[in-house]
Amino acid sequence: MNILQECQGVSRIAITGHVRPDGDCVGSCLALYQYLQKRLPQAQVRVYLEQPAETFAQIKGYDQIDSQCEDTEPYDVFFVLDSIPERMMEPAKKLYDKALKTINIDHHISNTGAGDIFWVVPDASSTAELIYELIDKSAMDADMAMAIYIGIIHDTGVFQYSNTSPKTMEIGAELIRYGFDFPRLILETFYQRTYVQSQVLGRVLLESIRFMDGSCIVSCLDRKTMDFYNVNNKDLDGIVNHLRNIEGIHCAIFMYQTDVLEYKVSLRSDEWVDVSKVAAFFGGGGHKRAAGCIMRGTFHDCVNNLSLHIKEEMEKTGGSDGR
Ligand code: 5GP
Ligand code: MN
Repeated sequence: MNILQECQGVSRIAITGHVRPDGDCVGSCLALYQYLQKRLPQAQVRVYLEQPAETFAQIKGYDQIDSQCEDTEPYDVFFVLDSIPERMMEPAKKLYDKALKTINIDHHISNTGAGDIFWVVPDASSTAELIYELIDKSAMDADMAMAIYIGIIHDTGVFQYSNTSPKTMEIGAELIRYGFDFPRLILETFYQRTYVQSQVLGRVLLESIRFMDGSCIVSCLDRKTMDFYNVNNKDLDGIVNHLRNIEGIHCAIFMYQTDVLEYKVSLRSDEWVDVSKVAAFFGGGGHKRAAGCIMRGTFHDCVNNLSLHIKEEMEKTGGSDGR
């Protein structure tokens, strides 16, 4: 796919990603935004995303993100990045439906391709890696490199997860040549937590429960506790990784309440469990080792239902009960 060819001669372009945008979603949307502005200065380019975490404010274009989406005029080209169209923020959907051309760029294995044109590469570490490959490198500058780098570090856990390929590392090397302060970026956007975020993390670990002979772990934050600490979904990013890092754990579940009898579920695993299959069963999606979904019911209903599917996946790979 050639992004510039697809946008040739057009005057209005929109970019969006998924709800509750993470580092890859924000980084790839803003990298594409910067690129299109640079290469197609005559076009009007808009980015529609729910308000991302403050730590991403250092990415160029962050202040141009439109979280209201009150526009009604159809766009010539509408990009959906790091997501299936169904997972974009509600107000952007109407505009997406009216767009003359829709383009979907993603790396989720659960995305079977959507839009008039789609570029879905499940082997890619991140959507940001795909944006790097799709843009003309002569347009690259330090701001664009930094946006792409943030996307890659967030989806690879700073080049740690199994989705990191030699190509991902090579792209990382190319990017840091642009001279941005990458150690500071890694600290500030990935590792650093506020005091209250750390307290909530502590509470989640303290209240976690192991099950299935200690091979799985679950922890849940209810609305009341979130209100007590005054935290929202943006404060909870990365918590599930701490559960996954516990010795002996093959599948970690972190849930937080989104409504009465409704939870956002994050799943992390190793080679024993393909969590994209588990999440897909409940209407969600993601990757083999990191996936998510929204579930309805009590906490215990959700865990019981999840365990059945986790067990099924373990049996397929010869994990715990399959041995
Ligand atoms: P997280 O647990 O960090 O929210 O998400 C892990 C991975 O699964 C990410 O790649 C994310 O995009 C994907 N994911 C999380 N929730 C959903 C969901 O409800 N639907 C789909 N399709 N993917 C999800
Ligand atoms: Mn991603």
